[in-house]
Amino acid sequence: MGKTYRTLVLKYDLLRLPPEEAGKITALLRVQEEFRKWAAEWAKSGGKEPPPERPLKYFAERFIHGAKSLDWLREIKKNGTEVRGAKPPLIFDAQLRLNNERDVGRGVLIDLPRREVRIRKWGGGTIMLQFTDKAVEWVLARTREGGKLALAAVWVGRSKRNHAVRLYVALVFKREAAPIKLERLLVIDFNALHHGISWAVVEEGRILKKGVLRPDVSKILHLQKVSAKLDRACAENDERCGEAMAVKSRIWRLLREWEDEAVKELIWMARKRKAVVVVDIPDDETMKKLKESNYKAEKKVFLNFGRIRRRLQGLAEWYGIPYREERLYSTICPRCGGKMSVLPDRRVRCACGFEAHRDEVPFRWAQKRFPDLITPSFSSSSAVLRITAPAGFGLSVRAAFAAYRPRRAFAPPRMPPS
Ligand SMILES: [Zn+2]
Repeated sequence: MGKTYRTLVLKYDLLRLPPEEAGKITALLRVQEEFRKWAAEWAKSGGKEPPPERPLKYFAERFIHGAKSLDWLREIKKNGTEVRGAKPPLIFDAQLRLNNERDVGRGVLIDLPRREVRIRKWGGGTIMLQFTDKAVEWVLARTREGGKLALAAVWVGRSKRNHAVRLYVALVFKREAAPIKLERLLVIDFNALHHGISWAVVEEGRILKKGVLRPDVSKILHLQKVSAKLDRACAENDERCGEAMAVKSRIWRLLREWEDEAVKELIWMARKRKAVVVVDIPDDETMKKLKESNYKAEKKVFLNFGRIRRRLQGLAEWYGIPYREERLYSTICPRCGGKMSVLPDRRVRCACGFEAHRDEVPFRWAQKRFPDLITPSFSSSSAVLRITAPAGFGLSVRAAFAAYRPRRAFAPPRMPPS
């Protein structure tokens, strides 16, 4: 099936770094700016611009090398002059030290026994950063799965959420995914998240197993109310704004943690049942309508599928499981094809006598379309070979990459420690 990638993004708030390390970041930022200037010229020239002098030469070589295997770098080249908005990170070669292997002098050394990250070769000495236990756990898990550290990307940027300046270190792991003999479908039906994500393991003749994954809706709704109140307080008194921000972060964290757990559970199931992941997700148009409708403001947070979808796709690809997105009907009768009427409790009923919970209908349709859905299409197998930029390259970078991505619907896999 080919190479697949997973990325761990480490984030360091500059304010929390030890002063002697934080002091080096300004110099690193200068290198980054210089490199980006060169990269823009290079892209504009269609790859003809000669490599720059040291220390930028090192980054230029890594960048060009990386671009051969990683779409999120290659896109820049393909699109030549349109690259002006893109801001590539500094790409380093990297070594993972699991025990006490010799330091071979690569740009980034991840030293697990010492819980350290060392960034070198950028022309300003060594930046030493901590490596958390959680990150160690993540790296060990990837290593056990046969993943190898392929490269590290480093950049200084602003957090999208609170605009704090951070140093980001993305570790890209590479793995050869072996093909799996597929026997079933894991159908995942995305609803507004307060209704939950319903899933079913589907065989040709039957639905083997099904369930619903739901975040802690009442807790989140409660926090949303608190947040709205604090927002009003913040509008009147600046001193309350910190609290308002803290509650928003908490809601975001709660949802994020739930999403990570849900994705893990789903992918674990797909692996165990040797199932193709078939995701039924509302298309952009439907989403737009939903968001613009008089959907209660505090429930809109449950309509953000972007992150969970990226995680699901990224993790499926890592394990060599085909991932595909398909629209499956939920109000058209799987028995006779008639339009069903929607009853108040999210049930649907057809004139032919068929009646079911609305979330059940896509599974019936998947069952009907089983032979077609179990055959990986060309596009889904090529998806396995694709990798997109780790999130957090900074807004402009992400926007630039997003514009060039061949299938716009998919945003990059974002892989914080999990
Ligand atoms: Zn019917």
